[in-house]
Amino acid sequence: MKDRISEGTLPNRLAYCVRETDIEKDEVMLSLALKVGSLHESDSENGLAHVVEHMSMVFDKYRYYTDDVQYNSIGVTDFDRTVYVIKCPNRNEAVRHGLFILKQIALGNYITIEALDEVKQDVLQEVITNNKGINSKVLRIIFEDSFYKTRLPMGDEEVIKGLSFEQVKAFHEKWYTPDRMAINIAGDTRTDEVIKWIETEFGSLSCSSNAESNDMNRCYQLHLETGTIKKVVTSWKVNHLEMYISNMISDEINIKNETCNHIFATVFEKACVHAFKESNVEFSYFSSSFVNFMNCNQFLKMQIVYCSDLHEKITDVMERVFDHIQKDSIFLKSYFEETKQEYLEYFNSKAYLSDLALPNLMEESIDHFILDDPLISYEQRIQNLMKMMDDLSYIDIRILAQQLLRYEDCLFIIFQGNSQDFSLVSPKFR
Ligand SMILES: [Zn+2]
Repeated sequence: MKDRISEGTLPNRLAYCVRETDIEKDEVMLSLALKVGSLHESDSENGLAHVVEHMSMVFDKYRYYTDDVQYNSIGVTDFDRTVYVIKCPNRNEAVRHGLFILKQIALGNYITIEALDEVKQDVLQEVITNNKGINSKVLRIIFEDSFYKTRLPMGDEEVIKGLSFEQVKAFHEKWYTPDRMAINIAGDTRTDEVIKWIETEFGSLSCSSNAESNDMNRCYQLHLETGTIKKVVTSWKVNHLEMYISNMISDEINIKNETCNHIFATVFEKACVHAFKESNVEFSYFSSSFVNFMNCNQFLKMQIVYCSDLHEKITDVMERVFDHIQKDSIFLKSYFEETKQEYLEYFNSKAYLSDLALPNLMEESIDHFILDDPLISYEQRIQNLMKMMDDLSYIDIRILAQQLLRYEDCLFIIFQGNSQDFSLVSPKFR
């Protein structure tokens, strides 16, 4: 597979990264990534970054595209970043027009006073819908006692209602500067040609040096309230339980830790699934994985979805699994050997190539810019992972399990569904 990475920085400090790849022939993905997100809002501005993003996306809302070309666009606001992604056909004029649109966003040309009220309504609608969703509820519990709670990327309803055009304009001017921007391209393009287009479109952006804006590498402490079980009542038909354990991460990004975590999450999942089956706990979904939060906070996250009232039984089983892992030093060994073999077979068979698409490469490029993650070609990365996995021994997993898995350090969130509530069932089934 081809994955040729070319990176550079223009004189105005705008970064670019072009990945010439053959995994998709017909489409190209472009993005403008910005090192600005909700953490850059000041007090009483929560939601401003999100509104600026929607204002910049009006090109999509009103379809400011070249004729006859199919574009797909999304904008995303997060704590530490704002990202605009465009997917277009692999044709020169379509790619060039995509870059032109990203340049208009960089310049703030779509931000007009006429659009403000309608955009605010759109954002408010999104906030209201989102507040009912599981992710928002989980974020609010995890960030309960931390600064992050005051800067949720979605934003605060009342603040958004009160935002003025001047605030929107000022936020864009302050933060949308070339030194905080990267243009990323992934697709079957010609690198030298594409870099020329980037230079042409973005070389003229002037870099106003914004001295006070360089202070933002914020990483705040989370005070996870562990030991207690939080309960959220929902109107869903199913019950859902999530468990979070905070994991310390070392400063350097380390492929050994990454590999170890990967294997461990799978091993832990197997041990839990086995224990649930033994205890006759019926569930419809189970997963365990590590989730990173801005590369400074990491959790082991477990999710289980089930229908009947099994909350207590599930937490009991979990407690037993934890106990077992702490006391029995070889309890996980056979799961470990099996998992390691499965991963190596998966890599050797190159099955991962069929799971790979442009968005995966794009995501890597964006993380590389925002978080300074190392960026190497996809195949090289797989080679490194395989070698690491080969070298991994049970001791590594054992150490991680012992450090991490203490029942009293878990945050459990139970989402108690209400099967009496038929609001989720469509009328014709009532
Ligand atoms: Zn939005």
